[in-house]
Formats: sequence, structure tokens, C-alpha cells
Amino acid sequence: MSKRLIERAAPGVRALHPYQPGKPISELERELGLKEIIKLASNENPLGASPAALRAIAAATNDVWLYPDGGGFALKRALTELHQVEMSQITLGNGSSDLLEFAVRVFVQPGDEVLYSQHSFAIYPIVTQAVSGLGVEAPAKDWGYDLAALRRCITDKTRVIFIANPNNPTGTWVDGEGLEAFVRDVPKDILIVLDEAYYDYARHLIGDARYPDTVSWLKRYSNVVITRTFSKSYGLAGLRVGYAISSPEVADLLNRVRPPFNVNLLALVAAEAAVSDTEHLHKTVELNAAGLHQLMQAFDDMGLSYIPSVGNFICVDVGREAAPLYQLLLKQGVIVRPVANYAMPKHLRVSVGLPEQNAKFIAALKKSL
Ligand SMILES: *Cc1c(COP(=O)(O)O)cnc(C)c1O
Repeated sequence: MSKRLIERAAPGVRALHPYQPGKPISELERELGLKEIIKLASNENPLGASPAALRAIAAATNDVWLYPDGGGFALKRALTELHQVEMSQITLGNGSSDLLEFAVRVFVQPGDEVLYSQHSFAIYPIVTQAVSGLGVEAPAKDWGYDLAALRRCITDKTRVIFIANPNNPTGTWVDGEGLEAFVRDVPKDILIVLDEAYYDYARHLIGDARYPDTVSWLKRYSNVVITRTFSKSYGLAGLRVGYAISSPEVADLLNRVRPPFNVNLLALVAAEAAVSDTEHLHKTVELNAAGLHQLMQAFDDMGLSYIPSVGNFICVDVGREAAPLYQLLLKQGVIVRPVANYAMPKHLRVSVGLPEQNAKFIAALKKSL
């Protein structure tokens, strides 16, 4: 192996620490020979995919020898109806992580700054570092985005601002009024990415009046990009599909760095079918609200504090180093997410599961404590 070859990797890439995903069930099975493992570690939908999406996948399997529609016409058309926007405003991604990366690749050059909050999504620093951008972490307030602090961190080098609303891993959120005041105040030549991966959950828990309808803002703010995903409330994480809504001009730029055929044929048909299955979505958000309640109740009973969440996950403060506890839970077949890499060494993030899965996690947690 040539040492010089390795050293020629782009500096940003060499300094990169790859994303650490939740532990797959199959890996824990191999390691511990356990059966009946539950995974509450990646905010997946415990009800699974919509039955309509599964039917669409089954009907399309004969076509997998064909390239997908690179323009994603049918899915985009369904999204234009859902959001009342134009086709030219949509960019499709292989998961919404794809779109976060496109945004940075389009607007960030080496040395430019990308701004986000402390305790926010791990993908933001990774996509920034990959292009030798400088990640800037604004201080958080009550574990969540502090928009005033974020505003103070804007410099003439800031190119992109990421706001996860609600935020992962903390489940915190910013209300519509405060967020719009922030957006109004940011210079128009800075791209603001509103990452709404947990939109449906948050909207259900908070209500329409206070959780912002940001798509309607696009007419006023041409520097806003909204990202959504089919991985969470739609239960299609394994297929990798998400999208961005923006001004046509920004969408045009995002689409230039988008690899051809980045969303596969099965993902396209499944996502299109999922959009119209409002019944499954409704069941999903109702189950989540009940599950969050179940978990919070249990934490209260155990005297553990937690960060109030409007996502499909919650961070509980275990009052001590959480890493050993994570290991003890694994031994009992329960996979959750340690969040020490988010500077939260005493918290564990648990995704809301089915009632019996939540109960199994609670029982395992009690036993481990
Ligand atoms: C899960 C998540 C995403 C999207 O993930 P994809 O599967 O790539 O769509 C984006 N942002 C946040 C904050 C998330 O938690």
C-alpha cells in the first residue's frame, strides 16, 4: 500500500469520523446468540411500512431490471399535490441525508462555515467536514436550538445553517413564530436548511397552531430549504428516500449535484403509495403519542429525568455514565442509542416502539439500574 496514496485523500475526508448508526439486530444476534431482540435505536416506525407501499413494491419487483425514472416524475407529482408546490421545487434524495450533503456541496467551499446547534444531528458536521468546511456549533439552551445564540454565530463566512426541527437526538423544537423571526433576520445569501425528518410526529404532538407550516414560507424566503424523509413516520428507512422543497432556483442547483438514479425504482413506487396512505400515517402518530406517554410515565415512576420530546424518540438521563447501562441493555436483547458522541454521556436515546417493546425496554432498564 502506498502511503502517499493514502495521504493524498482530501484533507476533509482524512479528518472525517464516520457516522455511527444504531446497532443492527443481526449484529447483536451474531455477537450474543440472542433471539427476540428489540431495536429502539434508529427511530424507525414500529408499525413498519404502509400496506399500500408494500403492495406497490410487490407489484414493481418484475421491473427491477429497468433503471428507475431518473426524474422521479410520479413521486414528485404526488408530492406537489401533498404540499401544493411546483415540480420544479422538489429534489429527491437517497434518504434526506443525501439532500443535506447536496446543500453543503453546492454552497460550501473549503474554509466556509456551516452553522448548527450543539447536541444536533451528527450528519451536519460530517457533510461539512467532507468538503473541508468549518462546522460551527452554537450553544444550546435546555438541550435544544437557541435561535438567539445561533444568530450571534453568523459571520460573513457562514454559508449554510442547519436547523433540525424537532432536533435529533434531543427531541426539542422551536415554535413557528420564533423560527420565522430568525429566518427573516438571516441575510438572504445564506442557505437555511429546515430539517423536518420528524414533521408528522411533531405536528401531531404540538398542533398546527404552533408547529410551523414552513412550506408556505417559501414564497417569502427564497433561501429556505425544507427536507423531509420517508424513513421515519412512513416506515421506509431501508429503502432510502427523502426530498427537499425549495425555490426552483435552489432546487436546480441541488439537482445538479444529485447523482443520476439516486432513488431506486422500488423506493420511488413505495414512497408514492405511502404518500396517499393517510390512514397508516395517522395510526403511526397516534401510536407514537401513546408510546411517548408510556415511556415518560415510567421514567417519572423511576425518578429519572428526561428531555421532553416531540419526535418518536426520547432522551432519558440515567444519572450516571450511560455506556455501561447500554451494554447491560444489549445483554437483555434491547438495543437503544448511547449519545455520548453528542456530548450527552449520561443520556440514552430510546425510540418509541410498540407498547410491549416499550414495556420490555422499561423492564430491562429497571433491572440494569
Ligand atoms: C433520521 C434523520 C434524517 C433522515 O434520515 P434519512 O434516512 O437519510 O432520510 C434527517 N435528519 C434528522 C435530524 C434525522 O434524525
